[in-house]
Amino acid sequence: MKDSFERRIDYLRVSITDKCNLKCLYCIPDKGLRLFRQSEILTSDEITRFVRVAHKFGVKKVRITGGEPLMRSDIISLVSSIKDIGIKDLSITTNGILLTGMAKALKKEGLDRVNVSLDTLDAQKYKVMTRGGDIRHVWKALEEAERVGLSPIKVNVVPMRGINDEEIAEFAALTFDKDYHIRFIEFMPVGGNKFYKDACVRKEEIMKKVSSLGTLNRLEFKGGGPSRNYQLKGAKGVIGFISPVSDHFCDFCNRLRLTADGRIKPCLLSNIEFDIRTPMRRGASDEELEDVFRRAVAVKPAGHGQRFNAGLVSMSKIGG
Ligand code: SAM
Repeated sequence: MKDSFERRIDYLRVSITDKCNLKCLYCIPDKGLRLFRQSEILTSDEITRFVRVAHKFGVKKVRITGGEPLMRSDIISLVSSIKDIGIKDLSITTNGILLTGMAKALKKEGLDRVNVSLDTLDAQKYKVMTRGGDIRHVWKALEEAERVGLSPIKVNVVPMRGINDEEIAEFAALTFDKDYHIRFIEFMPVGGNKFYKDACVRKEEIMKKVSSLGTLNRLEFKGGGPSRNYQLKGAKGVIGFISPVSDHFCDFCNRLRLTADGRIKPCLLSNIEFDIRTPMRRGASDEELEDVFRRAVAVKPAGHGQRFNAGLVSMSKIGG
């Protein structure tokens, strides 16, 4: 389905929980977050039902996220149910901590690929940045994901000034040996996170650091995703730049979001939301849900206007 700006909406990002087993400094505010009550969170059947509605309108691509999506005990059957709807490209964004034991089953049930968030290559720094995480689980997860074929493996890195920006070239160098997509995401100064000001390292600066390793060739832009992709000469993998701060990608935005508590968000940085949990629990027909879907697409704004602090508390609450 196309929105009012002729953008084809074929991508749904579904947050299935706001709980996370890490507390990354830049994501979770110091004072913590009020988590949804269990009864507020959509059930697996409710999520699947909504994805079915979205699929009817042309959604082909679904990313499951959170919070930490692998913390949900029904994650494997949920993947299976979503894939069975006919979703062509099904992926998960995860911190990888729980992935090793699940990768094989997830792949078997229809997961196509994973994005693993990893912001530092240093074990001690990882522990500090995640407030307690053990990086060894992430390395194992990457190996296992590769082994079972959850590829291409994308690694999400958020460079932050004075924290991990000295590691940019080291991350990029991983693409010489591995066919990973290393995706540098500009830090968004959303409300409540610790590094509110001055932490963002812009795309240009990141690119300069990456280019110190060799010639960086631009790859053809395919699909509607936010990443602009490049490859270092002689590398196996890809370097992606996602730059919501420097040059937003709203003209090509092809997505809607569904929050864990059942709100459709047509734009990450807008407060426009459509509740689907209430109508579902009141016994709404599929036609009524389809109508909500149509309305959400119809009011999708032209752009986010960089309203980073307009009520957005944390990416883990919305689904990053
Ligand atoms: N727990 C999963 C994970 O760690 O990948 C999924 C949820 S996490 C919120 C999804 C992504 O959002 C991560 O890659 C994280 O780096 C990114 N993220 C969180 N806060 C951000 C911010 N303020 N700016 C840019 N990216 C952010």
